Amino acid sequence: MRKNDIQQIGLEVQMIFQDPFASLNPRMRVEDIIGEAPVLHGIIKSSEKLVYVREVIERVGLDPEYAHRYPHQFSGGQRQRIGIARALAVKPDFLVCDEAIAALDVSIQAQVINLFMDLREELDLTYLFISHDLSVVEHISDHVVIMYLGRIVETASTDELFDSPNHPYTKVLLNEVPRLESRGINYKPVAGEIPSPLDPPGGCHFHRRCPSAMDRCRIDVPILRETSPGRTSACHLND
Ligand code: SF4
Repeated sequence: MRKNDIQQIGLEVQMIFQDPFASLNPRMRVEDIIGEAPVLHGIIKSSEKLVYVREVIERVGLDPEYAHRYPHQFSGGQRQRIGIARALAVKPDFLVCDEAIAALDVSIQAQVINLFMDLREELDLTYLFISHDLSVVEHISDHVVIMYLGRIVETASTDELFDSPNHPYTKVLLNEVPRLESRGINYKPVAGEIPSPLDPPGGCHFHRRCPSAMDRCRIDVPILRETSPGRTSACHLND
């Protein structure tokens, strides 16, 4: 594979980070934060940078005049938009969004989620959206992968997973999602502590907290198997 091909693949996948402040260089103006990579990779000429950056930040809902500002002159939501613009500036196909809205106020979260959804439509993007917020996951995803202590425990389309979860951990998680129809319910946290990922329990990692645990769960590692077309789950209850 030639160097240019490798570079191109690298550009197709971009990352949006959790902390919109720490992920922006405080000494650089927005013009350079967003414009540096497209110039470096030959997408635009250096002389076109300002015009290009103004276009990109307008696409994410920021005033093009802000291109000369520094990160500290923006709110949290605006900074996350700059992070999104930086990723879009190299024309990616695939964005890894690592808890990309977790650090924002709830009202701003909704705006940024809507921005993600609009951009996906306009630019035909694919997202790997990593989140602990299942309401957001349900809203934005087509397909969901649930992980516990570093292992995949269930995969399914979003509709199927939220309608009929298979894995006990997924069921417990979904019980905790606040919904209008469950107003007044006293939520019960999942029993037990999360074990250390450095020293996870043997067998099924979830067995110390699982309400359905059996003897074999302490010894045998459950394999991720297909439970129905397009769905997989790693639980001995499916055997
Ligand atoms: S394998 Fe056993 S402990 Fe693990 S989720 Fe299934 S029933 Fe629970």
